[in-house]
Amino acid sequence: MSALNLYDTKTRSIAPFKSLKPKQVGIYLCGATVQAPPHIGHIRSGVNFDILRRWLIATGYEVTFVRNVTDIDDKILHKAVHEEIPWWAVAMKYERAFTDAYNALNVLPPTYEPRATGHITQMINLMQILIDNGSAYAPGNGDVYLEVRKLKEYLTLSNQKLDDLQTAEDADLTYKKDPRDFALWKAAKAGDPSWPTPWGDGRPGWHLECSAMAHAYLGEAFDIHGGGLDLIFPHHENEIAQSQAAGYKFANTWMHNAWVTTSGEKMSKSLGNSLQVQEILKKVRGIELRWYLGSAHYRSMLEFSFDALAESATAFRRVEAFLARAKSVLGAEPQPVIAAEFAAAMNDDLAVPQALAFIAESMRIGNTSADDKKVIAKTAGEVRGALSILGCDPFDPVFAASKSNDAAMDGLIKLALEQREAARLRKDFAAADAIRDQIASLGVIVEDTPNGPRWSY
Ligand SMILES: [Zn+2]
Repeated sequence: MSALNLYDTKTRSIAPFKSLKPKQVGIYLCGATVQAPPHIGHIRSGVNFDILRRWLIATGYEVTFVRNVTDIDDKILHKAVHEEIPWWAVAMKYERAFTDAYNALNVLPPTYEPRATGHITQMINLMQILIDNGSAYAPGNGDVYLEVRKLKEYLTLSNQKLDDLQTAEDADLTYKKDPRDFALWKAAKAGDPSWPTPWGDGRPGWHLECSAMAHAYLGEAFDIHGGGLDLIFPHHENEIAQSQAAGYKFANTWMHNAWVTTSGEKMSKSLGNSLQVQEILKKVRGIELRWYLGSAHYRSMLEFSFDALAESATAFRRVEAFLARAKSVLGAEPQPVIAAEFAAAMNDDLAVPQALAFIAESMRIGNTSADDKKVIAKTAGEVRGALSILGCDPFDPVFAASKSNDAAMDGLIKLALEQREAARLRKDFAAADAIRDQIASLGVIVEDTPNGPRWSY
C-alpha cells in the first residue's frame, strides 16, 4: 500500500507523512467558539478532519484527537447580554448544539474536548514561562502581551513579513510596546467574568488557549494542527509564536480546510440561518449532508447551493441502493474492504474526489454483473469500505435514527404498493406505472420477493 502524503501549509508542499512516534498520531483541531448554532461552514472542518482521522485509524495509527471548545470570548459575552442569560449558559447551550451537529454527521467524538475556562492554570503557567524568558511582558494594567519583535521566526506560516503587517492607525500604545504585539491575556472589565493571575484579574486571549490546551494534551511536540483557512493568520501564527517562544516544538504539520462559499464568497451572514446545520437537516439526512460536505477535496472551496446539495443527496441514495441490493443478493451485509485504488487516492493528500470516482466505477461493475455473487461481494465490499472511511456507511448503527423514519416509510410504501396492485388488477397499467415511477423518483427501489415487495433507498 502506498504511503500517506499530506499537504503542509507551512512548507506549501505535499510530503510523506511521518509520525513523531511510530504508529501514533496527535492531532489538534481548533474547535468552535460556542456563541451561535453551527452552520455548514463550521461543520465542514469537523467532517474533513474526521475523514483524516478515520483514514489514519484504518491504516494502523492510534490517534489522539483534541478539539477544543472556546467557551469565553467577546461574542459569547455579547450574546449573554442579548439573550439575558449568563455567559456560561450561552457557551453550554451552543456547545450542545455543536455536539448534536457533530453527532448527526457521524463525526467521531474527540479523544479530548477541553474547554478554555477549564485550563486557566495551564495558561498562567505558559505566560509565566514567556515572561520569565523575556518573550512577554505585563505592563501593569492586567494585560499580558507577547513581544513579536523578539521572535526569530514569526509569520512563516502565512508567509508575511513583520514590517509589512498593517497596524491600526489608532493603535493604543499606552501599554503595548509595539502595535503588533498581541494579547495573551486581557485585563478584566467591570461586569465581565475574570480569573486571578499574578499580573491581575482578566480572561484568556483566544490564541493562548489553544497553545496551552495543545501542550496539555499532546505535549511539547505533536503531529498535526488543523483548522479552517481563515485561522492561519493571526490565530495559528500567534499559537506558533507563543509556543515556540516557550521552547516547544509545537505542530509538525499544518493542515487547513477551505471554506464553504456562497456566490464565491465565504458564507455570508445573510444566508446564515438557512445554512445552519439543524435547518439543513430538515431537508436532507445527516448521512447525506456529510456525503456532500466530504465530497470536495478539503483544500478546495465548496460552493454551496441547495440544488447541489439535493443532487449530491440523490447520488448518495444511489450508492445506498447499490449496497442494499448487494445485501439482498448476498443475504448479508457486504464485508467492507479497503481497495488499493481507494487507498492510493486517500494517501494522495486525502483525494476524496478520486476516491468517489473509484466508488462510482465499483458500482458500475457491480451493477452490470447481474447477480454474480462474487462480483457483488467484491464491489459492494469495496464501496462499503470506502464509505466507512468517509463516515457514510449506511449500515453504521449511528445512522439508526434515520431508520426510525423507515418505519413510517415502510407503511407509506406498502400503501402505495397496494394501490399499484389494485391498479394492475383492474388493468389500469398507466396508473400502476405512474405509482412505480413516483416511488422510483423518491430514490426508493422496490423488489418483488416471495414474501411480498421489499424496498430500499
Ligand atoms: Zn485554536
